[in-house]
This record gives sequence, C-alpha cells and structure tokens, in this order.
Amino acid sequence: MYKCILCKDELFNNYREMLCDNCRRDIASYLRLETIDKKYYKVYVLFFYEGEIKKLVRSFKFHDNTYLAKVFAIYLARAILEEGINCSHISYIPMHLKKKAIRGYDQSELLARETAKITQIPFIRVVDRRVKTRSLYDLNRRERETELKGAFSLITNASNILIIDDIYTTGSTISEVSKTLEESNIENYNFLVLA
Ligand SMILES: [Zn+2]
Repeated sequence: MYKCILCKDELFNNYREMLCDNCRRDIASYLRLETIDKKYYKVYVLFFYEGEIKKLVRSFKFHDNTYLAKVFAIYLARAILEEGINCSHISYIPMHLKKKAIRGYDQSELLARETAKITQIPFIRVVDRRVKTRSLYDLNRRERETELKGAFSLITNASNILIIDDIYTTGSTISEVSKTLEESNIENYNFLVLA
C-alpha cells in the first residue's frame, strides 16, 4: 500500500506523486510562480513562503527531512516543463562544505538533483562556495552583500543553466552568484527558487 508522504493517508492512485489529493490541493494553493526580471537573468519563485509550505521548507532545511526534496522536485519540474523554462543544465547555489558537513546535506543540491532526474535535464555544478559566510538570517540587504562578496567561484563553462535555490529573501545570494557568472561571461542563466 502506498501512503501519502505528508499525512500518511492511503493513496489510491497517482502513487508516483507521493501525495494524497488533500495534501496536493493544500500545496497547490501556495503556488505562485512569480517571475522577477533582472538585467541579466530572471528569478522564478515557485511558492509563497507561508503557511504549510513554510513549515515544510523549514522541516526540509533544518530537520533532516530530506525526503521532501522528492516532493518539491515534482513541482519544480512541473514549472520547468509546463511553463517552458528553457535550460540545458540544472544546477544549484551551494552552501559551504563545512556547513554541509554539519547539516549532512545541502538542501538546494538535493532539490536540483531530484529536479534534474525528473526532467532528465543534466545536473551540473556551477559555482563553489569558497568563503564561509555567517548566517545571513539576521542581516539586512547591505550587510548580506558585504558578507557574500567574493563568496563564490566558478567551476564550469557551460551556458543556458537554471540554478535552483531554496528560499528567496533579499536576492543577495543570487545577485552575488550572478556577478561571478557575469565576470566569467557565462551566458544565459536563470534562477528557480522554491519559495
Ligand atoms: Zn496527504
């Protein structure tokens, strides 16, 4: 018997989606797919970061519930395929390796790998996080920018890349990654953020 990955109710059909109709409806009510147009790139934001989604994202990010990557990836993949977001590669914005070692996983990497699997678009790594930044949570926009300056280094020369991240707050991290890509003349990249 297949069970809903969230509420554990029995699944009668569509077991591949891993969610029952109620949970699917609940999650779908937070979908927005907002497009933010920047000078060199677009940022697609998939969900409103509130309510049930906020709980799920936090439990995914901070409480080892890595199975949620598979659930979120369904929606990320659907956005890519149904909205026709064009890309030849899927990547992610990494956390610092030391931080990853403590947490045991990099949530954005999991999202990107699962999404790549579903869409069958090749997964690549685009940047390394070479500087360990302090937590950005309490910092304002300018402090974030200072903290992130030079944090990333490029490790690819691919183009047409969709870079996945978990939470969109001020956009400082995305902006810093884009600077790294611009400096290296990487062409045609956009960002897809979970919430
Ligand atoms: Zn359910």
